[in-house]
Amino acid sequence: MANKKSQDLMDKLVSLCKRRGFIFQSSEIYGGINSCWDYGPLGVELKNNIKQCWWKSMTQLRDDIEGLDASILMHPQVWVTSGHVASFADPMVDCKNCKMRFRAEEVQGTKCPNCGGELTEARQFNLMFKTHMGPVEDDASMVYLRPETAQGIYVNFLNVLSPSRQKPPFGIAQIGKAFRNEISPGNFIFRSREFEQMEMQFFINPKEDDKWIEYWKEERMKWYHSLGIKKENLRFHQHDKKELAFYAKMAFDIEYNFPFGWKEIEGIHNRTDYDLSRHTQASGKDLSYYDDQTKERFIPYIIETSAGVDRSLLVCLLDAYHEEVVKDEERTVLRLDPKIAPIKAGVYPLVKRDNMPEIAKKIEDILRPHFKVFYDEGGAIGRRYRRQDEVGTPFGITVDSQTLQDQTVTLRERDSMEQVRVKIDDLVSILNKKIWGS
Ligand code: ATP
Repeated sequence: MANKKSQDLMDKLVSLCKRRGFIFQSSEIYGGINSCWDYGPLGVELKNNIKQCWWKSMTQLRDDIEGLDASILMHPQVWVTSGHVASFADPMVDCKNCKMRFRAEEVQGTKCPNCGGELTEARQFNLMFKTHMGPVEDDASMVYLRPETAQGIYVNFLNVLSPSRQKPPFGIAQIGKAFRNEISPGNFIFRSREFEQMEMQFFINPKEDDKWIEYWKEERMKWYHSLGIKKENLRFHQHDKKELAFYAKMAFDIEYNFPFGWKEIEGIHNRTDYDLSRHTQASGKDLSYYDDQTKERFIPYIIETSAGVDRSLLVCLLDAYHEEVVKDEERTVLRLDPKIAPIKAGVYPLVKRDNMPEIAKKIEDILRPHFKVFYDEGGAIGRRYRRQDEVGTPFGITVDSQTLQDQTVTLRERDSMEQVRVKIDDLVSILNKKIWGS
């Protein structure tokens, strides 16, 4: 159960996200639609930056992973083969009195947590959204909105293998939307019905599975550290026999210490040869691999790393959120890693005269091709700094009277609030170093 302080933190974050343009409820002017969210101007920047960090770490900084962007709608047989049609279901119970629906695993005892009413027996509930393709809405035209991006990777195994000239061990990475008709969505963007995943499927020789799951566990944990997430707020949870999917040999979750408890943000699974074997059987296409060197034929095992974009973003925001009192003044600051901060620098004339706005505008022009920056000339400078602190902007550049004489500005750091004087000509390289380390 979340205590009051934790609930306060969630409430404050949700309110900040709305007020400052990170995240809005979908279709709000019509009263909203449950568990769907829209990312506003700052939210979409943050989200894109997180996705870019993941994409770069997977497909640019290494040569053994290829990218893919498969379609959301797939042949319906895919979901029969994958087992989703038969078993992608959460057991659920309904309250006979207030009609609320809960995941069976969330309910302790036999009474409704909402009204104390009597509950039904647990029933299976398929989480896949259905729609129809083409003009006729009959069973033959039914298709599913994908509940995970992984299947798009498995069915493209051969398509990617030959043109890329990769051979196991190698991976395919994909970022995209997934849809699940969750029974109890909630906790803001933690569990929604439309969300985004960043999935990488790594195809290996079955003999090497222990080595590779260990490797990806460590790599993925390091990735969260590289986003600046505090180590003490992250941990592994190994699935025991009861939790393990029937096809999986071993599975770990990376969990974050959310205000509402330790919860999964990413799954790292040894899926064995289940996926490629099933698709081989059902499609009639041989998805095995022949290794020229060892003269061995095998169906690759898959080590999957499956992360949620929205959950990662929530983790970044929660971990960065701080309230503090500095020099008798309260401030809220998002200590986001500069790499993912939506706006990299604020540019300010100290006052609105003496040519300071014009010089500040010129600096904005110099920086804009390199970084997302924000120009602000209204109000006291302290207030302008604090507005940017609250949305995580790591640097503030201020034009003052000394600028007029020596072409220098002050550069303020969000976290320490320290200011140093730097030459306007050096700003791009200084910021590049501070943001990217080079
Ligand atoms: P949970 O147990 O929380 O429902 P899961 O085990 O079903 O998660 P996976 O199927 O392993 O999740 O999906 C991989 C990742 O996709 C999760 O770690 C999470 O980050 C993200 N994810 C899954 N379902 C949702 C959802 N409804 N809303 C937002 N993100 C989700």
